[in-house]
Amino acid sequence: MNYKTTIGLEIHAELKTETKMFCYSKNDTEEKSPNVNICPICMGHPGTLPTINKEAVKKVLKVGAALGGDLADFSEFDRKNYFYPDIPKGYQISQYKYPLVKNGSLNGVKITRVHLEEDTAKSSHDTDDYSLVDFNRAGIPLMELVTEPVIHSGSEAAEFSKELQLLLRYLGASDANMEKGEMRVEANVSVSESDTFGVKVEVKNLNSFRAVERAIAYETERQIAALERGGRVIQETRGWNESRQETFSQRMKEESHDYRYFPEPDLPKLKISEIQEFSEENLRKELPELPWEKRERMKKYFGLKNEAVEIYVQDIGMGKFFETAINHLGVELPSQLGSSTPKLDVSVNLASNYIISDLSGLLKEKNFSSDELKMDPKDFARLISMTAKGELSSRATKDVLKIMFEEGGDPEEIVKEKGLAQTSDDSFIKNIAEEIIVKNPVAVEEYKKGKENALQFLVGQGMKLSGGKANPGVLQKMLKEKLGKNL
Ligand code: ADP
Ligand code: MG
Repeated sequence: MNYKTTIGLEIHAELKTETKMFCYSKNDTEEKSPNVNICPICMGHPGTLPTINKEAVKKVLKVGAALGGDLADFSEFDRKNYFYPDIPKGYQISQYKYPLVKNGSLNGVKITRVHLEEDTAKSSHDTDDYSLVDFNRAGIPLMELVTEPVIHSGSEAAEFSKELQLLLRYLGASDANMEKGEMRVEANVSVSESDTFGVKVEVKNLNSFRAVERAIAYETERQIAALERGGRVIQETRGWNESRQETFSQRMKEESHDYRYFPEPDLPKLKISEIQEFSEENLRKELPELPWEKRERMKKYFGLKNEAVEIYVQDIGMGKFFETAINHLGVELPSQLGSSTPKLDVSVNLASNYIISDLSGLLKEKNFSSDELKMDPKDFARLISMTAKGELSSRATKDVLKIMFEEGGDPEEIVKEKGLAQTSDDSFIKNIAEEIIVKNPVAVEEYKKGKENALQFLVGQGMKLSGGKANPGVLQKMLKEKLGKNL
């Protein structure tokens, strides 16, 4: 049998705001001590009144604008009623009928809606005797994005989630670290043999992109196996067991009527068009360059390879370092796509190569992120310009870069101090060439017999002997002359 897999995602992200969604308690996802960022409102005490966090509403609207969605003119909050120890009021304030955003798309996946709600407290069940509840998380603004059931594989679902994470970071809407629970993915999965939809299963607790991919693959196979046996798939909520790499049944799926949604009476309705700051025109003006726009610009103007572009798009700090350095190298930098063709420059490529292979390596060794890089991109640019002019060998460039990374300092001074400058001095290079010829009779013979590779080998030996100081072009010329004469 041929089965079609259908997936729709529900993704939650904690918004990066100063305070919580409906009160003035601090929104701090890094807080380690439990129950310190709390107040009577987010603890759900009777008689308290919520107020709407304007910044959170704005962030969701910005996400909507970036996705090309329809921004609501009228919106309201609703109570979603259920009991659990992590939901102190006995209901969650969410949005049901009037989400802030409808439609839009990302990575070719159609978005159903984006709405705003509050996060729950965090329970931990680490011991057998009791559970603990930390209310620091209760009431943190939580964005929920729902896609249409138009995804067909685990890898497509993971790609979508990655691009959403990137967008949230570009917008400053959320740090969206999955391992910290700042972004959480739920996958609805169904399989069917025909064009109609099969019964869907919702898989929760997916806290890495790999888990998204693996859980969908597992669930697809489990459902197909059930149908093949002549059984059926039941609509339910399942969890993901990371160590067993399996989904497991958690509970029967609740229906929306189980929640007894009704409009939150303690909050005002929102008339978005009456708030100038929230106008679509204004929101669009405030949008930064978006990931896909940056991708296109970098490809078009720098002629960089896809892998390099992706590094600068994914790692915002690294991209900024690269672009600032290029600026200091004096390369024209159009900030917007126009009709002009890219000005490719050798120094752009050189700078990019040293950033991607060497600087990234140094950062990785120290387990630093690009934000922790102390090097001034201007100094880096000066180093690259020396290399581009042939004043430094690639070996010396790497050495200077390492010193600059570890101790800081001026590249020109480091070069002087360590005597790393490349020299074209005739008598110095002549001595090197003669010594190399004497020491490598076999390679010399091979070169004389016409093997060009042998010359490269001799140049390499000469570079080594000179401690990287000989200008390789001049050395090669000198070797050719000498070996030619001896013919
Ligand atoms: P429910 O009311 O059961 O929560 P929704 O219509 O709100 O269902 O859809 C929830 C999520 O499930 C959405 O992401 C949607 O794309 C997805 N979904 C709906 N039907 C299917 C299906 N047959 N297979 C996979 N995903 C589906
Ligand atoms: Mg739903």
